[in-house]
Amino acid sequence: MSTHKGFCLCQAVQYEITLPGEGEQQLYSICHCKNCQKGGGSPFTANFLLPAKNMKLTKGMEGTDVKSYSMTQTTTGTPMTRYFCPVCGSTLYGKLAANNAVVIIQTGSLDDPIDAVMQPTQEIFSLDRREWLKPLDGTKQVEKWFE
Ligand SMILES: [Zn+2]
Ligand SMILES: [Zn+2]
Repeated sequence: MSTHKGFCLCQAVQYEITLPGEGEQQLYSICHCKNCQKGGGSPFTANFLLPAKNMKLTKGMEGTDVKSYSMTQTTTGTPMTRYFCPVCGSTLYGKLAANNAVVIIQTGSLDDPIDAVMQPTQEIFSLDRREWLKPLDGTKQVEKWFE
């Protein structure tokens, strides 16, 4: 089992993930939705969804060192909570109200990227993709939410 560490820009918040085993829930996707654009301050986000038990904070606590913002007005109707460091503003991960058994890591916050062992397999909300971006080779294109 490989573990990967992540932290925010100021390192006040640190976490660790363990890659899920065979058959366990996992999905690496690129999201072009408007909320990710705003929340990430970037044209898209790269997100790794995995079982919540595979992620733990190693420095900082939710509520104090890690603040959150819940979006209830989402396209899918599924409220989404984004977690970020209130000191440096880095977005770190998200959770879906509909399924608290999974956590969605924003892979830019990983210090030890998972990209050596896996690449995104799908792009979601492809309808919102910036015009100057091309679909990634070999990825499934989903116009809106996960299929
Ligand atoms: Zn920070
Ligand atoms: Zn999104």
